[in-house]
Amino acid sequence: MRIKFLTLKRKSILIVMLCVLLVGGMCGTFFAVRATSSPKPLHTIVIDAGHGGKDGGAVGRTTGITESELNLKYSLVLKNICQQYGFNVVLTRSDMNGLYSPFASNKKRSEMEKRKEIIDKVKPDLVVSIHMNSFTSSSAKGAQVFYADGSQSGEALAQSVQTNLFKTTENARKTAKIGDYYILNCTSVASILVECGYLTNPDEEVLLQQEKYINDFCYNLFCGVLLYFGM
Ligand SMILES: [Zn+2]
Repeated sequence: MRIKFLTLKRKSILIVMLCVLLVGGMCGTFFAVRATSSPKPLHTIVIDAGHGGKDGGAVGRTTGITESELNLKYSLVLKNICQQYGFNVVLTRSDMNGLYSPFASNKKRSEMEKRKEIIDKVKPDLVVSIHMNSFTSSSAKGAQVFYADGSQSGEALAQSVQTNLFKTTENARKTAKIGDYYILNCTSVASILVECGYLTNPDEEVLLQQEKYINDFCYNLFCGVLLYFGM
């Protein structure tokens, strides 16, 4: 009897050990898979640098800088910040070339359709279009965020970014505005158009080109995006 009992006990221990090894192996495989698979990006954002190519947009009166050049600069800085925080970023343009087809008779229409095509393909969580403003009077100043009429998500995003810019950036306006722009109207994705400042204002023309100002502005714009996501 004693021998039989010991044999049974030995068998039980063996079964328990096998189970531990089996479960351990499964867990090991599970954690190995978890560790090797890359983390899913937090959100996907399309950053749209306005203008490009032959279309330089607004021009600085003193320095002659073009809006298309500054738009690209801000877009690239914003892209780096977004990526640092785990966002997936797609740029509509990453150089000074225009987005229009060289064969298009209406280049403006062609480039806008290309921007829409990119947004439709990427299906992002949001779109941020970067521009620099201009006005006949040189006294006009301050960053202004626009959203499409009737877009609740666009309005929430715009107000979140505008409020954060107002709190952190000199001259920034307090309230986001409705804007009738193709880039906002072409999609149901939460979209904003950010006029970062006025190239027709001599002080802002200089300020908008300063590296520290660009970094701070893009960071504060991004913080507004984070607030929109409740982060
Ligand atoms: Zn523009």
